[in-house]
Order: sequence, then structure tokens, then C-alpha cells
Amino acid sequence: MLIVDSEKCIGCGVCEENCPFGAIAVVDGCAVVDDGCTLCGSCVETCEVGALHIEGAEKKAQADLEEWSGIWVFAEYRHGRVAPVAYELLGIGRQLADQRGVPLSAVFLGSGIEDQAGLLIAAGADKVFLVDDPFLEDYREDVYGRILVELIREHKPEVVLAGATAIGRSVIPQVATVLGAGLTADCTGLAIREEDGMLLQTRPAFGGNVMATIVCPHSRPQMATVRPKVMVPAEPDPGRSGEVVRVVPAAGVLSSKVEVLGSVQSEQDQVNIQEVEILVSGGRGLESEKGFELIRELADELGGAVAASRAAVDSGWISYPHQVGQTGKTVCPKLYIACGISGAIQHLVGMQSAETIVAINRDENAPIFDIATYSLVGDLFDIVPLLTTRIREGRGR
Ligand SMILES: Cc1cc2nc3c(=O)[nH]c(=O)nc-3n(C[C@H](O)[C@H](O)[C@H](O)COP(=O)(O)OP(=O)(O)OC[C@H]3O[C@@H](n4cnc5c(N)ncnc54)[C@H](O)[C@@H]3O)c2cc1C
Repeated sequence: MLIVDSEKCIGCGVCEENCPFGAIAVVDGCAVVDDGCTLCGSCVETCEVGALHIEGAEKKAQADLEEWSGIWVFAEYRHGRVAPVAYELLGIGRQLADQRGVPLSAVFLGSGIEDQAGLLIAAGADKVFLVDDPFLEDYREDVYGRILVELIREHKPEVVLAGATAIGRSVIPQVATVLGAGLTADCTGLAIREEDGMLLQTRPAFGGNVMATIVCPHSRPQMATVRPKVMVPAEPDPGRSGEVVRVVPAAGVLSSKVEVLGSVQSEQDQVNIQEVEILVSGGRGLESEKGFELIRELADELGGAVAASRAAVDSGWISYPHQVGQTGKTVCPKLYIACGISGAIQHLVGMQSAETIVAINRDENAPIFDIATYSLVGDLFDIVPLLTTRIREGRGR
């Protein structure tokens, strides 16, 4: 409920002007709220004399904030190797830890993984909490969640980072909920605020049209997930030294309600557009599923893979694992060839850090040209086959 302190209210009318719902008005020199109030808080923020507040909105700060210290990375392991996003998180984690003057630790869960712990130290970790047990061969959300919660409660890191992957997205919200911690999903930027050491977590909001920076001032740890290919991994240094802490989970932790019947590598993993260096990407301009055959030829010739805009995926011309953008994947290839893609902001956020961008579009004003390294204005049905032929000829085939 929105409360007006009539002692403090000076009847200036700023709240009335700022209420998007017309639910507050100044009557006889004092603000009066009606049933249209949605508790959006705009008036509270703009009231200079502090005469308005939303009852129950004040969150009590956790009492032991100062006891939480250190930066942690959940180092995901799958298909027999450390997931590339773990190295990317260690890259940004190292910077955050150095700025805070605290250690960087990796939490590493799996079966038969001990010999890979050193890779995490080489990538920047000072310490690796290793839980190596045959029960962790298959990923089970409840077990991983319990182990992470136990470790976090015991060691109290101030920041916990994880990849915004299928695994990270399923286990981390559970951990944050159990701990009562704040979590920002899909961050594209992380930094430390100099004044108070708070983690600044930046992510796109409102359909990608604004970048929001979020802080969690009242609870610890500050938790964030980061999409693969957004952060840059540090150059590995095999000479780095660090500590591997072998953790044996408490009794009862290694049991699950989930029975894993089998494990099948999905098409998503086989495509993995995040791990190839050349992507030829198609949009609505390709007109049909058949249009994708055209760009697949070019991709094959270049030794790359095929990606797509959401419009093409929504049209059913290609499957979702190929989608680039805000609700698809973030990619950072050496070469990105955009064919018949207009360059909507939601697409650009997923590919704009590609090293070289070639855009083919018949509309010379298409926004994709604003970020393209090379702009080819014309019909893609003429240009793409020409490119494919030229490349083939160049290779003497
Ligand atoms: C919350 C939200 C999330 C979203 N997430 C994503 C996302 O993850 N990824 C994504 O891509 N989009 C996303 N979108 C959709 C996005 O806003 C655009 O609608 C989409 O990217 C448009 O795809 P497109 O460029 O293929 O199609 P269009 O915008 O229709 O562009 C087609 C382009 O092809 C050109 N063209 C047509 N024919 C030819 C030809 N013969 N030769 C050359 N050029 C030709 C046209 O000039 C045009 O520029 C999201 C939208 C919202 C609201």
C-alpha cells in the first residue's frame, strides 16, 4: 500500500505529474492516492521530501554482509571437458577478484575430473573446490544444487558466477532461492563499484532496448549468470599455482529423486554455433527453408556453420539451436555473414562482437549496415551463389 506522510507532504504536485496511471492527485495541499495505484513506485522515487513510501517494500539487509568474501565461478563440466564458458567466467572473475583484492575460486563437480582441476588454475583460479564422485557422472539439478548451497553456506563468497547454459539456468536459480540471494540472469557486463565494492550486473532489459545495471545491496552472495561468448577468457598460464580442495559431500547430499535413464547429445550440441569461427546466417530475406540450402553451400565452402535470425526460426525454416540474438545464442565468430537480416537490436546483441561482419541486404538503409565491416547492397539470391562460386574457384575446385 502507498502511504502518504501528510506531515512531510508539501503539495508540490511532482508525484501527480509523474504517476503513469493518474492515480495520485494533490487535494488541499496534500497528495491523495486512489484505487488506480499499481505500487509501481515512480512517485516514491520522485518525491524530494520523502513523503511517500510503499508499505513492506523496504527489504531488511542481511546482518552478516561483511563476512562474505571472495569471487566464485561455477565451472561447468560436460561431455568429458570443462565447458568453454567456465574459462570465460574465470577471465572476468579474475578481474573482479583483483579489483576487490580477494581470491578467485572455481567450484568443479563431476566424476573422474580431478586431472582437469589444474586447467581452472591455469585459467585464473586461486582455489578449486573439487567434488569428484561417480554419483556426479550425470547432471542432476537437485544434487548439484544441494552441493553448491552447502559450499556457499560454509565458505560465504561475496559473488557467485555461472554460465547461462542449460545447466546453469536450471541449477543457479534454485541455489539463489534456497539462499535467499539476488540473482541477475544473462548478464552482458560485470564490474565492481569502486565506492562500496558492490557487483554491478548489466543486462539488456525491455526487449533489448535499454541496458539495466542491477545491484543486490541487501543479500549475499551476489549471483549472476553470463551467456557463453560474452566474456573473454584469460590466456591460460600453465605455470600458475593454486590449491585444489577436495570436498566430500555430507551424508544424504548424494541422493536424488531423479533417475537418469540415458543421456543423448542434443542437436544443439552438435551444431554449437558458439564454437565455430565462421557463421553464415540467414533471415526472413531467405524466403523459405530452401533459401537455407543456398547459405549452407556457402558455409560448407568456408568450413563454417549456418545460423539464423529469430524470424527464420519462427517461420520453421531452421531449428532453434541455430538462432542468434537475445532469445537465441550469443556468438563471437571471426566471420559473420548476415544474409537477408535487417539488423534488429535483438539480433545485433547476439553477434555484434564478431570480428568481421559481412551484411548482404537489398535495402541500403537496413540497420545491419551500421555495424557491418563490409556492406553488400543487392539481392542475396544473386550475391550468395556468386560468393560461393568465387570461393570455390579460388580454391581451384
Ligand atoms: C523480446 C524479443 C526477443 C527477440 N529475440 C530475437 C533473437 O534472439 N534473434 C533475432 O534474430 N530476433 C529476435 N527478435 C526479433 C527481432 O526483433 C526481429 O524481428 C528479427 O530479428 C527480424 O529478423 P530478420 O532480420 O530475419 O527479418 P526482417 O526484419 O523481416 O528483415 C529481413 C531483411 O531481409 C532483407 N531482404 C529481403 N529479401 C532480400 C533479398 N532477396 N536479398 C537481400 N535482402 C533481402 C530485407 O531488406 C530485410 O532487411 C526478438 C524480438 C523480441 C521482441
